[in-house]
Amino acid sequence: MANFLGYKCSLCGAEYAPDKIQYVCPKHGDSGNLDVVLDTTAIRYNPASSPAAIAASRDFSIWRYQTLLPVADPGFEGTPLRAVGWTPMYRADRLASGLGLKNVFVKDDGRNPTASFKDRASAVVVARALETGVKTVAAASTGNAGAALAGMSAAVNLPAVILAPESAPQAKVAQLLMFGARVILVKGNYDAAFDLTLAASREFGWYCRNTGYNPFTVEGKKTAAFEICEQFTLRTMKSGTPRQWRAPDRIFVSVGDGNIISGIHKGLKDLLALGWIDRMPKMMGVQAEGSAACANAWAANTETITPVQADTIADSISVDLPRDGARAVRAVRDTGGAYVVVSDDEILAAMRDLARGVAVFAEPAGATAYAGLAKAAREGKIGADETIVVMNTGNGLKDVKSAMKAAGEAVVIEPTLEAVKAVIS
Ligand SMILES: *Cc1c(COP(=O)(O)O)cnc(C)c1O
Ligand SMILES: [Zn+2]
Repeated sequence: MANFLGYKCSLCGAEYAPDKIQYVCPKHGDSGNLDVVLDTTAIRYNPASSPAAIAASRDFSIWRYQTLLPVADPGFEGTPLRAVGWTPMYRADRLASGLGLKNVFVKDDGRNPTASFKDRASAVVVARALETGVKTVAAASTGNAGAALAGMSAAVNLPAVILAPESAPQAKVAQLLMFGARVILVKGNYDAAFDLTLAASREFGWYCRNTGYNPFTVEGKKTAAFEICEQFTLRTMKSGTPRQWRAPDRIFVSVGDGNIISGIHKGLKDLLALGWIDRMPKMMGVQAEGSAACANAWAANTETITPVQADTIADSISVDLPRDGARAVRAVRDTGGAYVVVSDDEILAAMRDLARGVAVFAEPAGATAYAGLAKAAREGKIGADETIVVMNTGNGLKDVKSAMKAAGEAVVIEPTLEAVKAVIS
């Protein structure tokens, strides 16, 4: 790809040519996440990549931003690989007024082909795999990253191996199996599956998609930032073609490994460098009380992440050692945002609020971002006029057990009108 200049280590700043390295900076074991460096000058002077050119695109997926990605056009038109992204962003007026706010939007990434935000990353990793001719892709996952990789691989007929903790929700394991991936459940947590996947990928030569290890996941995830800014612009423009995009004031994102918040931050930095937006939104990271390693580091004003013993209902963000922790702390600190920590009960309440207030059915980790907004608003930390985007990162059908916990049980009656009357009164 002409625009792909190389990699830069997020910890020490060392630079590498595209063909010199595959995953992380060798100076820090497995933890030196690499930023992909793009040629923003070339992008800016490419007539096919401007807000106006993109507005004219009829590709309603992440691939409308292909000139801003470090991978070649993967082809496979008409397949789910091309259906990732361009998810709807809803106005949430009832939720907003309940919080004393005026402009709250919910972007529903549960609407992706495999029903989570992770499709963005997996689509770009699969495009990279196609470009470099690898034979098998692999990932460790609490469920969604694996389902996304299995689904995108099924779309292009690429073999996939997924390692997940034995405790992964059943629906997510069913998804992995349905897409035909080789599924290996590990007697251990996500962190154990993660390390095992690194070792197995080295041993068997698999291309490893692990979050916070493969530099292309962030490049896929950044497309959410492009969509937020483009959709926000189209929504506030009455007519005409945008020459520039507008960014909202704040973006709320749930954080586990920290790769989504790093990805959205990367996308916003790309847009600022291109001059397509003129200010950086405040990034708001939201973590569960039982899995708050990034929030702890942010509060202690350090990028050094101390692992926790993760325990939360939100399985997709249940992580002992966040694999993209330093960049996740930086995303919040450098944009003047904040971390918010919420309890499992607040997450369950947020699931109900999202479903009833804006008709978005989120899994626990998906609703966590909204739980963070609700808490920050109640504590008076959000201005009434601010424009706020809340990401829902996963669909509620992914974890029906937790949904029933949030929504309660239905009544069961005899098939008589009397019984209905008794219930209704
Ligand atoms: C993976 C995931 C997250 C968190 O993303 P990280 O990159 O691990 O911070 C949040 N919500 C859902 C539904 C996810 O699948
Ligand atoms: Zn380094």
